[in-house]
Amino acid sequence: MKSHTQVVVIGGGVVGCSVLYHLTKLGWKDVVLVERSELTSGSSWHAAGGFHTLNGDPNVSQLQSYTVDLYKELEEISGQSCSLHLTGGVMLADTPERMDFLRLAQAKGRYLGMDLELISVSEAKKMFPILDEKYFIGALWDPIEGHLDPSGTTHAYAKAARINGAEIYRHTKVEEMVQTPEGTWDVITDKGTIRAEHVVNAGGLWARECGRMVGIELPVLAMEHMYLLTDEMPEVVAHNEATGKELIGVLDFGGEIYTRQEGKGMLLGTYEQNCRPWSPKETPWDFGHELLAPDLDRISPELEVGFEHFPALQNAGIKQIINGPFTFAPDGNPLVGPVRGLKNYWVACGVMAGFSQGGGVGLTLANWIIDGDPGYDIWGMDVARYGDWATLAYTNKKVQENYSRRFRIRFPNEELPAGRPHQTTPLYDKMLAQGAIMGDSWGLETPLWFAPDGETAEDVVSFRRSNDFDAIGAECRAVRTGVGITEIANFAKYKITGAGAEDYLSYLMTNTMPKVGRIVLTPMLNEAGKLIGDFTIARASDETFYMFGSSQAEVYHMRWFEKHLPDDGSIAIEAINLGWMGLSIAGPKARDVLTKVAGDDVSNDAFRFMDFREMDVANAPCKVNRISYTGDLGYEIWMTPEYERQVYMALMEAGAEFGIQNFGMRALLAMRLEKNFGTWFREFRPIYGPFEADLGRFVKLGKNNFIGQEAARREYEDGPKRSRVSFVVDALDADVMGDEPIWHENDVIGWITSGGYAHHVERSLAQGYVPSEFAGNTDDGAFEIEILGERRKATLITDPLFDPKAERMRM
Ligand SMILES: Cc1cc2nc3c(=O)[nH]c(=O)nc-3n(C[C@H](O)[C@H](O)[C@H](O)COP(=O)(O)OP(=O)(O)OC[C@H]3O[C@@H](n4cnc5c(N)ncnc54)[C@H](O)[C@@H]3O)c2cc1C
Repeated sequence: MKSHTQVVVIGGGVVGCSVLYHLTKLGWKDVVLVERSELTSGSSWHAAGGFHTLNGDPNVSQLQSYTVDLYKELEEISGQSCSLHLTGGVMLADTPERMDFLRLAQAKGRYLGMDLELISVSEAKKMFPILDEKYFIGALWDPIEGHLDPSGTTHAYAKAARINGAEIYRHTKVEEMVQTPEGTWDVITDKGTIRAEHVVNAGGLWARECGRMVGIELPVLAMEHMYLLTDEMPEVVAHNEATGKELIGVLDFGGEIYTRQEGKGMLLGTYEQNCRPWSPKETPWDFGHELLAPDLDRISPELEVGFEHFPALQNAGIKQIINGPFTFAPDGNPLVGPVRGLKNYWVACGVMAGFSQGGGVGLTLANWIIDGDPGYDIWGMDVARYGDWATLAYTNKKVQENYSRRFRIRFPNEELPAGRPHQTTPLYDKMLAQGAIMGDSWGLETPLWFAPDGETAEDVVSFRRSNDFDAIGAECRAVRTGVGITEIANFAKYKITGAGAEDYLSYLMTNTMPKVGRIVLTPMLNEAGKLIGDFTIARASDETFYMFGSSQAEVYHMRWFEKHLPDDGSIAIEAINLGWMGLSIAGPKARDVLTKVAGDDVSNDAFRFMDFREMDVANAPCKVNRISYTGDLGYEIWMTPEYERQVYMALMEAGAEFGIQNFGMRALLAMRLEKNFGTWFREFRPIYGPFEADLGRFVKLGKNNFIGQEAARREYEDGPKRSRVSFVVDALDADVMGDEPIWHENDVIGWITSGGYAHHVERSLAQGYVPSEFAGNTDDGAFEIEILGERRKATLITDPLFDPKAERMRM
């Protein structure tokens, strides 16, 4: 065993072996993998081996596509067969909503270059003759689906890595990890210690335990999962003989079942409602190459539906029932990347679909370790998308919810209930009492909209405009014509202090830093010149700055900020998190309201647009930004939690004579659309440059050095290849949701990032990216946007429909 190496990968499941292989593929040969038993001793050996490319997140889809393409390469390098069966597969819809879902999936696939096709049930039956047509109304065909041998595939990764120079130590258990003062790791195993520059936790079923060895609690939980294998079936043999083809893979949403041919029989699995976590607190170390006791009763409701939908199964003998555990994160996507606060400690765990995702996880993690950047937009898989609030008990509830909803539709206006309310602000009960429908914003209950008196405060979930439409319209109109108030505690807030704070921020951000009492907006770039943040920065004093951004990205951003902090302790950065609450008032009467309760002069001369002040509001010490994401005259007011209730009540009282009204996040997002403002994670993501994203005015190429400057300069000089644009859409009863294709003539030329109905201007609006040569084409109806399978006319607009001269913010 080596005593020193560049990387120790812990875990010889499909994920660890993929990470090892990709490290060698990218040129790092001095790397090792440590496995406590034989390879595939966790969940990998008993997987059903299915793979597919579709995922709710298009960026994850792309990486799944990479994984599937990789298998041929692996077989060639390793000489080890993965037993690939590229059969193709269908998703079967049983309701109109599920057909809408398939249309959306197909549309999403268009701009990813996926060859998905909506087919009739009888066409599906030709490829899968054992289905009973009467239960279904349509299907989506994906040619890039199939199954493989999980053990062979894991060994193919391992062999290819070894051929490239990696070493694998089996029967070697990592028991402890100790960071050295230089930042390397002593990985202490039962066979000796290896000093490594980096460690990767790919511990699968034991990922939590490998996390605890370094003092972190990863939000992963294993669930029991069952599938059964039938004896040989005459219907299968007959189809094989008649067509020379295998039966395809089938996903039956109504039955919550997946099924495919295995040998001359069938394999059938389900994500049952009556699901069960496995070893919720701690995974036993003596669990080896073994299965759990089958429990057919638990899956019998789903099996009954399956036997109706696929009647031939009723006569098939059951050869074997597999029940095995595998791990999930709360949202079902992997946890990948460097862990904030730990130098050179990486995770690649919570991978619930190792044979669809393992390749992409390995590639991006290897890129990240070697180049400092994953090379793809992997926000959907980044371990930083969870904070400390994702506790063991919360994870347990969310994972069960996610498991049991695996084959359910998540509507765009659907908030999932498990584990909520989790974090609440002092206004929670007050908001509920006023009819608030709450949403989960990074674990925090946040008002989405307010049901008028007499109406039930709940969302009717839908792909189309729903029961919130009129109420949100009223909230938007209240702001645009008078004044509204909303809670913004869910923004991320940071405090940066120290003599070097300005230089530090100026090196991280593209804009120049503000003078004392002023605010700037600024993107943040990575070295490749891509957007990794979008902030509002206020300067309170020479050495004190406050910064505001997306709460979901708080850990992601802190990881970056801390990485670039100087070692001498001269600068401190703190994520304030829920240490501050926030309220925003906006609309032409906002100043009248603030004037009544503010301790300072807030006239337009004394307190200008983009000013920052520390002042008393309703006697409470507050920090106030004169800025509003509504694009209207407005203020963001920040205070510690003990003052929030009384500040809110004072503002409501002061606003009563001006008709102040609560508004929620949905109205806020609708109002920003009519200003063409983008949002983090939709319009602004690490695949876009600042000029593409139309943020060029916040990039000061001529100032001091900043991260991404050279790449940004190149983007500016060469001109962006694509551009963020806004459209007015000729929508009917459904607005865009995001990820729809943009058509020009008969080609898909771009994609939608977000949109919705803008109630003040009374138009359906959308934002998205198109190749830059299209960005000036404002011809009436020159584009089409595919909404729920229908191509709706769309007209590109270059100026915002509300207040194009930006006078309202400055009034
Ligand atoms: C019944 C069932 C059906 C499934 N079907 C599919 C499917 O059809 N398609 C699909 O893509 N996925 C499927 N999966 C999921 C798939 O199995 C997982 O996504 C995959 O196995 C995850 O691999 P991993 O490498 O992350 O974890 P694991 O396979 O659990 O590997 C982790 C490895 O790390 C080792 N290890 C842990 N701690 C240490 C330590 N301290 N020192 C040394 N070694 C350590 C373990 O021994 C183990 O070998 C299924 C799972 C089950 C249970």
